[in-house]
Amino acid sequence: MDLGLAGKRALVCASSKGLGLGCAEALAAAGVDLVMNARGAEALLGSAQAIRDAHGVDVETIAADITTEEGQAKVVAAAEGVDILVTNAGGPPPGVWSDWQRDDFIKALDANMLTPIALIKALVPGMMERGWGRVVNITSQSVKAPIAVLGLSNAARTGLTGYVAGTSRQVAAKGVTINNLLPGIHATDRAVSLDTGVAQQQGISLEQAAEQRAASIPAGRYGTRQEFGATCAFLCSQHAGFIIGQNILLDGGATNMTI
Ligand code: NAP
Repeated sequence: MDLGLAGKRALVCASSKGLGLGCAEALAAAGVDLVMNARGAEALLGSAQAIRDAHGVDVETIAADITTEEGQAKVVAAAEGVDILVTNAGGPPPGVWSDWQRDDFIKALDANMLTPIALIKALVPGMMERGWGRVVNITSQSVKAPIAVLGLSNAARTGLTGYVAGTSRQVAAKGVTINNLLPGIHATDRAVSLDTGVAQQQGISLEQAAEQRAASIPAGRYGTRQEFGATCAFLCSQHAGFIIGQNILLDGGATNMTI
């Protein structure tokens, strides 16, 4: 299927690895020029070059912490005029509900709620003026069904979801869609870090923790960044202009619910 995206330009945040990289790769495969971001320059430069080599698109890289005002300013300056925005950042650490302090919540809100909101506010007005735009926020399955140890994530991402629900309906008439992609467990560094926590807590090996988790997923396995990226590229495509304010779960059936 031709996604109709050749020649468009996208900012993909937190994209040197994992799900953000999957989105960057899938958009590049559709002919989209990229601004890629991550904190660490080495992996970012390596991933950007691999995408240039594979797809022949232009890729600009901005090494910065997207959760800081300074980082956002650098990234937004480079991304001026983009047609597509994919927001993403690292997820908050796991823990116990009674231990988190105000500072922990402020950090999680900054990273996983206020950063995507700041980027939407900076880049969506230009999309509206030009009459076309796509925003995809990488959130989490925890928005649909809370994950006990990830209370900081549950809280921050649900706040973003409420903002998107209201905002997406105000910008849709200008040709701009805003939707959220909700990953369940995917085979990335984040999954390794979550499984390491389970292994330590239960006194089992990392492999056992991963097998145990995979067995709890109806699909019987972890998702891949390629599957995730393909869904993101479709949501950004010309075919997806009538999908507004939705929360699309990619979890191998793990969240047990009817609708
Ligand atoms: P990952 O494999 O750990 O990759 C994270 C990427 O984001 C890296 O490129 C990292 O590069 C970059 N990054 C992290 N913090 C950043 C920051 N402050 N500023 C700029 N770049 C940053 O993680 P992932 O699995 O792709 O997860 C992406 C998001 O989806 C996270 O919020 C995660 O919580 C959420 N999620 C993931 C899963 C899963 O199973 N993988 C499930 C549910 C939700 P640097 O470290 O160099 O900055």
